[in-house]
Amino acid sequence: MAEPTTRPTDAATMDKIVALCKRRGFVFASSEIYGGLGSTYDYGHYGVLLKTNVKNEWWRAMVQERDDIVALDSAILQHPRTWEASGHLAGFTDPMVDCRTCGQRFRADHLADLQCPQKPSRPPGDGPSCDLTEARDFNLMFETTMGPVKDSGATVYLRPETAQGIFVNFKNVLQFSRKKPPFGIAQVGKSFRNEITPGNFVFRTREFEQMEMEFFVPPGEAARWYDFWKGARYDWYVELGIREDHLRLREHDPGELSHYSSATADVEYLFPIGWSELEGIANRGDFDLTQHAEFSGQKLEYFDGQTGERYVPHVIEPAAGADRATLAFLVDAYDEDEIGGEQRTVLRIHPRLAPVKVAVLPHMRKDGLPDAARQVYAALRGRMQSEYDDGGAIGKRYRRQDEIGTPYCVTVDHQTLEDRTVTVRERDSLSQDRVAVDDLPGELAARLAAPWRSPKT
Ligand code: ATP
Repeated sequence: MAEPTTRPTDAATMDKIVALCKRRGFVFASSEIYGGLGSTYDYGHYGVLLKTNVKNEWWRAMVQERDDIVALDSAILQHPRTWEASGHLAGFTDPMVDCRTCGQRFRADHLADLQCPQKPSRPPGDGPSCDLTEARDFNLMFETTMGPVKDSGATVYLRPETAQGIFVNFKNVLQFSRKKPPFGIAQVGKSFRNEITPGNFVFRTREFEQMEMEFFVPPGEAARWYDFWKGARYDWYVELGIREDHLRLREHDPGELSHYSSATADVEYLFPIGWSELEGIANRGDFDLTQHAEFSGQKLEYFDGQTGERYVPHVIEPAAGADRATLAFLVDAYDEDEIGGEQRTVLRIHPRLAPVKVAVLPHMRKDGLPDAARQVYAALRGRMQSEYDDGGAIGKRYRRQDEIGTPYCVTVDHQTLEDRTVTVRERDSLSQDRVAVDDLPGELAARLAAPWRSPKT
């Protein structure tokens, strides 16, 4: 059966996601008061909470639930030799064309997906007055100068990926972590690429966060671990609620492979812009350690004291983007329905990812209900991200929480004052039941920890 390329039944469009993110302060254009800075974004309160949850789930899967992966946080600025050894200085390029008419630049291999600025219904090169140059290579690394004197300072680069910081620390980690292959090093952090055509909101930006793990294995085990990590990374998205009919693993054709990779697969998500990469899983062989050994003059290998065997481990790399994953979770969760004739926007997001887990709402702002509600809030907020809200009609407050994906709303009403129970309203089913105040923290924690499937499936 042909795979769908559009989402006729889905309420989510990129415009609606961008509008919701701005309206509720998840993400806004960076430096907005100065008119913004092309394709850079700032995350506001709910956006920070959401992206932090995405990164924490990645750490949980990589480090907390395994005993063969350790964490690392390497510097963004690294010795420039790093980028010679990795091949980025010579080869981290995209093909670029200029239009002599409008003066804009485009990625030559993405022309079909782009718009001519003067004739947006056509791709660049196809408009009546387009005049494109030949494609030439453009290096994506951001360059800066280290040291106080611009002319004599050393040229350094903002890292275009977090992975190289892992390879150059291989020896350090091997010494202190008491691990032996197969073992991994995981890192989350900012990366920078001077993308020729960034766009589609936080999907492609020039500054973004990556979640990368390098898994070092005996050469003979590489193929097996490559298969393992493909499956594990696909399952991670499914467990966190992404609908499986919007997720796929796509193996690269031999022609698509990087020179160092013997196999690569992408986890792809069906965004409103079509199937696009969320994460790449690559079998990088011994390329990186061999290169850094050659350029640094240091031995980067594993010596097994028991067998006397010495070898350069091969590497399996799952490389994901925190912003792209966050965008996918938002798109997948976005929904609209109607309650009592009124339209509701709701984020049906996995409770573990939801920015706020519970909102405590006094039914009215009188008769001591706010005080009682604040006590309930105080008992919850040490256990989970909670919010107190007494502003406006109760229906409006529910709607606000639905829009940011809060799984539970707890309402404190007059009955609470009599029998110390509250109403717990569930975001997806809209079911309401009464729970004793004293049981509430435990009860909510149990509900939040239960397995969850998207009601959109
Ligand atoms: P693409 O083909 O989309 O440019 P890539 O194959 O170059 O991506 P990798 O180098 O494999 O990407 O980086 C790993 C992950 O980092 C990507 O799967 C993506 O989630 C994220 N990523 C890469 N470039 C960007 C960017 N410019 N903006 C946001 N996220 C990015």
